[in-house]
Amino acid sequence: MDFDYDLFVIGGGSGGVRAARIAAAEGKAKVALAEESRMGGTCVIRGCVPKKLMVFASEYPGLVDEAAAYGWEASAGAFDWPRFRGHLATELDRLEQVYRRNLERAGVTIFDQRATLADPHTVRLADGTARTAKHILIAAGGRPVRPSMPNAHLGMVSDDIFAMPSLPKSILIVGGGYIACEFACILNGLGVEVTQYYRGAQILRGFDDEARGLIAEMMRAQGIDLHLGTNLVEMAPAEGHPERQPTEFDAAMGMPASDSDAAGHAAPAAPRGAPSGPIWVKATNGSERVFDAVLFATGRAPNTPGLGLEDLGVRLGRNGQVVVDAYSQSSVPSIFAVGDVTDRINLTPVAIREGHAFADTIFGGRKTAVDHDLVPSAVFTQPELGTIGLTEEQAREAHRIEVYCTSFRPMRTAFIDRPERVLFKLIVEADTRRVLGCHIVAPGAGELIQMIGVAVKMGATKEDLDRTVAVHPTISEELVTMRTPVRTA
Ligand code: NDP
Repeated sequence: MDFDYDLFVIGGGSGGVRAARIAAAEGKAKVALAEESRMGGTCVIRGCVPKKLMVFASEYPGLVDEAAAYGWEASAGAFDWPRFRGHLATELDRLEQVYRRNLERAGVTIFDQRATLADPHTVRLADGTARTAKHILIAAGGRPVRPSMPNAHLGMVSDDIFAMPSLPKSILIVGGGYIACEFACILNGLGVEVTQYYRGAQILRGFDDEARGLIAEMMRAQGIDLHLGTNLVEMAPAEGHPERQPTEFDAAMGMPASDSDAAGHAAPAAPRGAPSGPIWVKATNGSERVFDAVLFATGRAPNTPGLGLEDLGVRLGRNGQVVVDAYSQSSVPSIFAVGDVTDRINLTPVAIREGHAFADTIFGGRKTAVDHDLVPSAVFTQPELGTIGLTEEQAREAHRIEVYCTSFRPMRTAFIDRPERVLFKLIVEADTRRVLGCHIVAPGAGELIQMIGVAVKMGATKEDLDRTVAVHPTISEELVTMRTPVRTA
């Protein structure tokens, strides 16, 4: 049978773009890609990239304070959010064009519209036309979800943050995961009064307990009003609420619409930059407060609804993710999926690896399974958390371990009597001496974990680290100087 294309990719994010480029440029395949939003996907347009630029922006007031404590005459002044946002928009436009050009250069045909599946080899485009392909790759990513509660539409999701017309004076962040903690630190750094409600006993569930504890302590020390074991139970527009006076943010955002979707269903994501405040909220502990804005950072879901996958018999998991094998093949042989839509490890570099491995397997003549073991990652809180491998809690379940851990005030900020502490932790398997996990809480921990991650991935033992001479004076020299385990288990 003749097809229009060898490969049709649905989704122009990290995973889809990589797969399309490699299949076209190296695999000499005839490739098309459809993207309904902006080229680059979540990471480039409304995730990692703009988030990291906001992290940089938010760190300056702290640096200015440090400079002053070191003897400089310095003060930060006001932050010009519209100016930053304009610059950000220009940068994202540039990056989007880079992605587009790279696809075009590789010979990929781009459709700037939504695509859904009509049959295992046919894609239907929003303009009503159809295209056939020997292989179809679903790389549709994920989307933020709000909890299902009345008035949930009043709250923003992470997509909305980058388009806010002005910064709110106060914000409630709901959630305790990556996005909640990163934005709590960013907005706090930018001068917003941040309150965070997390329903569990400690933020960053799934990460090493000691690292979680230190991040929470540092976030509080910076002024974030973090409430654990606390969730939102009710929310409503606060117009006329006696506790609250109108602010500049209200004028810029406009008052929220009425509580028309109070049916109790999960609210759809609001349009970007949607109005969100002022909002009255009631918490599980009975407290009632008013915030200029609420941000739901309550998780993300795979973007599968409406794609037509179920009708074709493509097996979906409990969260709606496409279930795939080690080669990213779904239960329908011509349909593959990579990235967040598969809900494996939802990180950009993993999606890129999955997209590349798919293209190598199908078009490069090299059957390549993605290695999801020992993936380093970072949470861009302040300080950052870098992590690879097993947490102490996970390692205890299956191994005899030694735990090496140190936490101290680094020279740079101890000198000016600031409370910052860092943490370096190694989980070592007692018998083989292999490093099973490494957890770092420190400024630049994302950079550090990338480096130590190479050694851990290579199977480094504790003795390999011990043989490495320290670089002095650095904070990370502790990774090679810890001599005695603090615990064995
Ligand atoms: P996470 O799954 O990390 O966190 C979701 C948080 O919301 C959890 O604390 C969860 O609580 C809480 N939650 C879920 N449902 C509710 C509810 N109904 N009411 C109250 N709280 C709720 O999701 P994120 O949105 O933060 O991030 C999504 C993914 O994106 C991450 O898992 C990560 O893979 C990726 N990401 C990676 C980044 C990085 O690499 N630096 C940065 C940002 C995102 P509980 O713990 O109790 O379930």
